[in-house]
Amino acid sequence: MKANHVMNTYSRYDLIFEEGRGPWLTDISGERYLDFVSGIAVNCLGHSAPQIAETVARQSEKLMHISNLYWSPQQIELADRLCQASGFDKVFFCNSGTESNETALKIARKYGRAKGGEEKTKIICMHDSFHGRSLGALSVTGQEKYRQAFRPLIGDVYDAVFNDVSSVEALMDDRVCAVILEPVQGESGIIPADPEFLRALRALCEKYDALLIFDEVQCGMGRSGKLFAHQKYGVMPDICTTAKALGAGFPIGAVLASDKAAEFFVPGDHGCTFGGNPLACACGITVMRELTENGILENAEQMGDYLQKRLQQLADKYDAIEEVRGMGLLIGVQMKEGKKSAAIDGALKQKLLLAGAGNETVRFLPPLNISREELDEGLKRFEAAVEAL
Ligand SMILES: *Cc1c(COP(=O)(O)O)cnc(C)c1O
Repeated sequence: MKANHVMNTYSRYDLIFEEGRGPWLTDISGERYLDFVSGIAVNCLGHSAPQIAETVARQSEKLMHISNLYWSPQQIELADRLCQASGFDKVFFCNSGTESNETALKIARKYGRAKGGEEKTKIICMHDSFHGRSLGALSVTGQEKYRQAFRPLIGDVYDAVFNDVSSVEALMDDRVCAVILEPVQGESGIIPADPEFLRALRALCEKYDALLIFDEVQCGMGRSGKLFAHQKYGVMPDICTTAKALGAGFPIGAVLASDKAAEFFVPGDHGCTFGGNPLACACGITVMRELTENGILENAEQMGDYLQKRLQQLADKYDAIEEVRGMGLLIGVQMKEGKKSAAIDGALKQKLLLAGAGNETVRFLPPLNISREELDEGLKRFEAAVEAL
């Protein structure tokens, strides 16, 4: 099979998958792989999760899309569930992480104007952050390699240094309408924020009447062992964006906001044709039920502790591993300089799929319902790959 007509935006592995079940994937030649990438933190219930398959079948036979000119019970219920589990007041639904961040930025600009006039438009983001590829989300992504070719980007954006309070403090003033960051930086290497850093940002945002935006597109929806990573930190943002795992493989994004932030959005300010359609929301409801009522959060927390502990043992044993970081089942294994790709390729030879990240880091993102036996199998394969380095 040859892909002649797909745009050249990804460097891909030479693998074509056609089937999956739980953490296992089968390629077109019948070869089985243990998948610890989970579609980049998307397939939180594994591949072909029966609950999701059943939800898609049931809901698609009933109602898939009606537009946002009308209501559906699914959109109302998913918004209720998300708010009840998190303490936010309002939800906006869209289809992706990028769109949810784009929405958050628009709320921030509207909030700024309403509270501080034409001048209150300044947005602070972090070095090495990742918020998406649209021009707005890219503008607050603090990585020149992604930004450079697409300038001019949106204006009045300033980069601070992650986990460095003084770098944010130096940029804060009454013109700031928002500070945006990932509580655990994902693409740049699974780097958790220091608790004091988040608390200090919360206080700075209060002081200058700016919105604190947490991008939980990757670290949210149970990855951290809690529904949202900020619940682990005990720091409540004004806006929390999410997507990836929210539909367990069905595309859906959501922006959770306090009334304080959301009240400035009125009809006409924002929209999304597919956003919050009954099919996507039905999947979101199933995911919320699995996470909060069927023990998946607890499993993610316990299996995350176990996986981190076992990876730490490998780090103690092998020089090629520099550090193990993370939270729940969002784990980064930082390799010695130059060893990341070799580790991922070596794992692939063992039929274990792992994703890279910045900072020489290998990401472990198994499904949140993974079992100890499956983790042991993955660890065995990873150790073989590290041993061969
Ligand atoms: C993946 C990701 C995004 C972008 O999400 P898309 O669904 O690809 O648009 C934004 N922020 C973070 C933290 C992510 O990990």
